[in-house]
Amino acid sequence: MFAPPIQRLIEAFIRLPGVGPKTAERFVMFLLKSGRGEVSRLERALEDLLQSVKSCEECHNFSALSPCEICADSRRDHTTICVVAEPQDIIAIEKTHDYKGVYHVLRGLIDPLIDAGTHQIKAAELITRAKNSETPIVEIIFAFDPTIEGETTIQYLNKQLKRENLKITRLATGLPSGGSVEYADEVTLAGALRARQNL
Ligand SMILES: [Zn+2]
Repeated sequence: MFAPPIQRLIEAFIRLPGVGPKTAERFVMFLLKSGRGEVSRLERALEDLLQSVKSCEECHNFSALSPCEICADSRRDHTTICVVAEPQDIIAIEKTHDYKGVYHVLRGLIDPLIDAGTHQIKAAELITRAKNSETPIVEIIFAFDPTIEGETTIQYLNKQLKRENLKITRLATGLPSGGSVEYADEVTLAGALRARQNL
């Protein structure tokens, strides 16, 4: 058994996605061995993260500014909203240089096994935004991973958002089933965006 402060940090690392007990132990041993310099570097970076990163009031992306650079950019098409699960999906789509609209980050997807789960994601915010936006919204694109969660979220949001004069689309199938928006290569993602399908 490790000393309590070591154990506590291991447990803190295990809470991070993708980090198991062995990796967490390796992180902590690395920090202990490298000493004060490495620990303060991490401390400063975490403090900076807390102090300077905000949630964009419009799209809920993490950004140094609110509204974020994309929402504040008048050259972008504010009539089209691409809805993504996570902020890193925006990075992947921006890399295609093929999309000029704005985004909405749900910060997760609906898990059909838990419950509707809609309160845990920014779904109500999207519905309000689609209704009350200053610039009338013409198209909403769902860009989710091809998974059960992605499918459930599309069905729920489509029902809530459906109205006259609003085009609702989804990425074309082309992303491998069970694959992800975040890790799709630019060509595949750009193709999926261009060939998006009506709902
Ligand atoms: Zn924004």
